[in-house]
Amino acid sequence: MDSPLNGDIVAGGHLRRRLVGLETTPGNGGGFLNFSSMKEETKKYFIPINRDTVKPNENAGQDSSKELVGVRHWFYISGEVPTTLELSTDYHIVDMNWDSDGNVEGIIEAFDQYVKVREVLTSAEVLDKHELRAEYIEYGHRPVPDFSFEYEDVEVQCGYCSSKFSHTMLKEQEEYDNEHDLYLYSTEICPVCNRGGCCEVEYESAGSTDL
Ligand SMILES: [Zn+2]
Repeated sequence: MDSPLNGDIVAGGHLRRRLVGLETTPGNGGGFLNFSSMKEETKKYFIPINRDTVKPNENAGQDSSKELVGVRHWFYISGEVPTTLELSTDYHIVDMNWDSDGNVEGIIEAFDQYVKVREVLTSAEVLDKHELRAEYIEYGHRPVPDFSFEYEDVEVQCGYCSSKFSHTMLKEQEEYDNEHDLYLYSTEICPVCNRGGCCEVEYESAGSTDL
């Protein structure tokens, strides 16, 4: 029939299909597009903490750490700077200052070449002093928890391709969506068919009272 009602139903049908195509699979962390109709079922798994791996953390509560970012060789030379020191391509001299007596105070920056630098420096007969100065940056982080632990190895099954594998093989992915200027996350990605939200996993909370 040519009633206006028919047209409405067709329009409604189009709209509904588009929404189904953009549906976000529940439990996959949100934001990633999946065609949920292609999946048979989403299986749910609980991943318990492996009691044998629970260890108290020595640095529990610590909320900052230091990281070595460089090693500087401070040296003092009484007399001429040897050309072997200046010409080496293994490192670079970042600072040299001459005093009025012609002695040199200098700094070499070398993160992983300190053995070589030390060799070159100590082979220079005019070397007077040499000190290694490590440089750290300190950065803040969440307080280290009281315990560290690992989870039990649980076999899970993909709801799309039915493959079975360890939950540790599930992958996560982050993608940048240019058009909408946001990050899309996909979790529980199957290592075999690469589809997100292939199952649901719930990890035991570290706050369990019997740990
Ligand atoms: Zn799969």
